[in-house]
Amino acid sequence: MEEITSHFSHGEGRSCVIKRRACFSASHLYKLPELSDDDNSALFGPCSIAPGHGHNYELIVTMEGELNQYGMVLNLSDVKQAIKSEVISQLDFRFLNDTWPEFDLSKSEGCLPTTESLVRVIWKRLKSHLPLKSLRLYENPKLWADYKGNAMDAYLTVQTHFAAAHRLAREDLPQNENEKIFGKCARPNGHGHNYIVDITVKGKINPRTGMICDLSALNSLINDLVVEPFDHTFLNKDIPYFADCVPTAENIALHISDKLTNPINAIGANLYKIKLQESPNNAAEVYAKVPESKTDSKDSKDRISLLR
Ligand SMILES: [Zn+2]
Ligand SMILES: [Zn+2]
Repeated sequence: MEEITSHFSHGEGRSCVIKRRACFSASHLYKLPELSDDDNSALFGPCSIAPGHGHNYELIVTMEGELNQYGMVLNLSDVKQAIKSEVISQLDFRFLNDTWPEFDLSKSEGCLPTTESLVRVIWKRLKSHLPLKSLRLYENPKLWADYKGNAMDAYLTVQTHFAAAHRLAREDLPQNENEKIFGKCARPNGHGHNYIVDITVKGKINPRTGMICDLSALNSLINDLVVEPFDHTFLNKDIPYFADCVPTAENIALHISDKLTNPINAIGANLYKIKLQESPNNAAEVYAKVPESKTDSKDSKDRISLLR
């Protein structure tokens, strides 16, 4: 009977991570007043067309803390209220360029409201109210930024897809051995998947353009080096790398990582992670090796000149 008290305090003081999702719709315009229309267009493409365009943003707030006596890190209605008053009510149905002073481009310290710069400023707004661990902001389901409170460092993820066939087997093993190891995936004529690839880059947000790197340059690299060569292929036969490397999800993710690491470095960011989903049931993630000296050598001035 003396155990009843401890039963009701179970978990108190233990650490836990909680998440809260919130959505808002807003518009923005990528146009720097110090640049000509042609330069803005070259730098930002259709995002520079006035009066702007909009997105349905989705914000994921990740918090960490110790459980209280009621088994909660925080009262969720307090969390909801803080996010609503500090972020959603100020941004929802607004033109982002005209909302917060951080986006006032008439001032030299003003910054474009890109996904990565917006998530950083949202962190500034929320950090005194909530025990933040990380923030994720989706501009759309295939583009999102992560921020972990580390100065101008942020992560940007682009999601793309390709369809391809493969066969899992080692050429140096007999068929019955391959079937023992790889099961049905070793059948001689292969099978296919609709692969989904998340490419995450890490870098410093440029204080003026608000960008980690030129997004259209990043999209071109992904298209030229991954989607175009892999889409609608039989990987084992059409991609020379997989002639003698079994194209498992793990190996495909590693190969994509190796192909993208240096080109992404050349546009001023660092490849951070590749996630390859083969089906809803399995995925592989690899973290790219980032040479530390290269991380530090790119300052924001390098990046803006690369952007131009
Ligand atoms: Zn946009
Ligand atoms: Zn397969």
